[in-house]
Amino acid sequence: MPAAKRGREKWRGIAASPGVGVGLAYVVDRGRVHVSRRDIDKSEIDGEIARFRAALKACLEELEGVKARLSHGEHRQILKAQQLMLRDPDLTQDVETRIRDAGHNAEWAVAEATDAIAATLDKVTDPYFRDRQYDVTFLGDRILRALQGDSAAAMAFPKGSIVVASDLSPGDVAALHSSGVAGIVAEIGGRTSHASIMARAFEIPAVVGIEGIIDGVRTGETMVVDAVHGLVISNPDEQEESSFRGEVQRYREFEARVQKEHGLLATTTDGTHVVLRANVALHEDLESAGYHGAEGVGLYRTEYLYMNRTQPPTEEEHYLLAKQVLARCAPYPAVFRTFDLGSDKPCTLFEHGHAEANPAMGLRSLRLALRESDHFAAQLRGLLRAGVHGPLRIMFPLVSGLAELQIALSMVEVAKRELSEGRIAHAADVPVGIMIEVPSAALMVDQLAQHVDFLSIGTNDLIQYTLAIDRENDEVNYLYQPLHPALLKLLGLVCDAGKRHGVAVSVCGEMAADPLFTWVLMGLGVRELSVHPAAIPVLKNLIRASALGDAIALTKRLASVATAPEAEAFVLAEMNQRFPEHLLHGAAAARGQ
Ligand code: PEP
Ligand code: MG
Repeated sequence: MPAAKRGREKWRGIAASPGVGVGLAYVVDRGRVHVSRRDIDKSEIDGEIARFRAALKACLEELEGVKARLSHGEHRQILKAQQLMLRDPDLTQDVETRIRDAGHNAEWAVAEATDAIAATLDKVTDPYFRDRQYDVTFLGDRILRALQGDSAAAMAFPKGSIVVASDLSPGDVAALHSSGVAGIVAEIGGRTSHASIMARAFEIPAVVGIEGIIDGVRTGETMVVDAVHGLVISNPDEQEESSFRGEVQRYREFEARVQKEHGLLATTTDGTHVVLRANVALHEDLESAGYHGAEGVGLYRTEYLYMNRTQPPTEEEHYLLAKQVLARCAPYPAVFRTFDLGSDKPCTLFEHGHAEANPAMGLRSLRLALRESDHFAAQLRGLLRAGVHGPLRIMFPLVSGLAELQIALSMVEVAKRELSEGRIAHAADVPVGIMIEVPSAALMVDQLAQHVDFLSIGTNDLIQYTLAIDRENDEVNYLYQPLHPALLKLLGLVCDAGKRHGVAVSVCGEMAADPLFTWVLMGLGVRELSVHPAAIPVLKNLIRASALGDAIALTKRLASVATAPEAEAFVLAEMNQRFPEHLLHGAAAARGQ
């Protein structure tokens, strides 16, 4: 007897790669690899280490094989990052020490070493770095499979299917692409896991973070993945299915249209150019920046260089990294933010003395850099040296006042003098700017602007500190309101001061990437946005279809709105009239608006 048709079900997850897909479910249930502990004899140590090294080699070769099958450099870069993790001496040494000193079998040593790294990453509040734990877990399982003689070859998936899995590996995503899969649903993996990043790179709609979904769906059932609103529906009714199929078509056509124009400048119909630069955390983001039409890097997050290591990076490392970035960006500039560690980007390299009760207001960011002045100086020297290779800019995060800025600026001068005295080539005219992330900096911006070459508003932190809401706390997330009148007032102060002092003002927080806010920012006077690379084509298209005069008029009307919810409703209504398709690509859409 055929099984009875199951009813419609709906789940909510995290929209990890935008788009809409409809197809038949293909459930992949691989689970984690189970290992048992065995205490080994001294005579077995060399053999176990040799088994571990052979397994590692097999995994590296396997990733190399997948990489070779990919045509796009960006996707290859992501696999390269996985290979780098496998080659990390911290991992290999830890496994080998566990075999040699603790007398564990190779499987147990690998499981313990990778679990320990994943547990450390799990404590990190920055979502990008926290999500690296999934890569570590995935790579650990991959080594274990190789140790157990299991070939972990990438699978093939039915064309047009919706793949439902506990987690996906980059190798799987490569196979997904060549199979022409319509969507991905995963139980684990945040927005910034490599699987999510690759899904975005291949433009496969993906919703992740739906616990238990592989038990709730059967292979062959019709599924909708609405990765605009973070929704997944199984067994939709006929009308619903056909309406989603229409959406799939419209979404694809729009994306193709805006990507085709990615190389054009974002110039308004009345002739104002808004510069679109990329926010970059890892080297692999650079290729994506070029592909999506970025005019350089507006925020290079150098803190990644300090993560997962036992010693801070050297001057030479800073120099080499910046030199490489500039080569990739040419002829456009690259803005390097000096290390922004602490609070949501914790780092074990620098001792705090005691646990901080309130790390967001503690020893973080520029304050930490000024305390760790030797390491700060090493970074400044490396960056100044790299400045001879292209238009490099230096930016200080979390500046709270002039006294602190003056110390940081004097350190730049000292670094230049020392380099000159040592006859070491460097650029003496590197522009130096600051992030406006603290209300005190926004209020004193007139004073600060006189000492710097540019200002970049970090709305993620500026909203946090202005509205007194922890940006990582879901309980108060509803108060995270970019259109709060208090925030708009501060943004206005910064833009006006920029104009008065002839200093460029950009916005590099998440607010800049959401099309809902583009007119407001333009209306306030912002002429430069720095956003994650994939957001660039949509923003360029929106700006090219806009008149600056209309944006200014909207912002003037907004000034008389008293509350954040009213402001949001007002801007949403206006922007939705003009740009309904663009809004589907913003964070506001994911909030269910
Ligand atoms: C910001 O605060 O807006 C910003 C861009 O910096 P981060 O998110 O890295 O703190
Ligand atoms: Mg910040």
